Amino acid sequence: MERPCPVCKELFPESKLSEHLLSAHPEVGDPELQKMHQRAGDKCPICGAVLPSGEALAEHNARVHGL
Ligand SMILES: [Zn+2]
Ligand SMILES: [Zn+2]
Repeated sequence: MERPCPVCKELFPESKLSEHLLSAHPEVGDPELQKMHQRAGDKCPICGAVLPSGEALAEHNARVHGL
C-alpha cells in the first residue's frame, strides 16, 4: 500500500513515508506525530510548535522565546 508524500507527492510504502518525511523534509516532521500533537495540544503563536498543554506552552515560551 503506497501513499503519496504530502510535500513532494512522490509515492512511498506506508512504512517508509515517515522516514522519507524526516529525511527529505525535516521542517515538516512526522505526520503521525503532528496528528498526535494536534489532538492533544496548544499551539505556540510564535513558532507554531504544538505543546501538549497550556502549562507546557508557557514553559516553551519561556525557554524558547524568552517570554
Ligand atoms: Zn517528499
Ligand atoms: Zn514557540
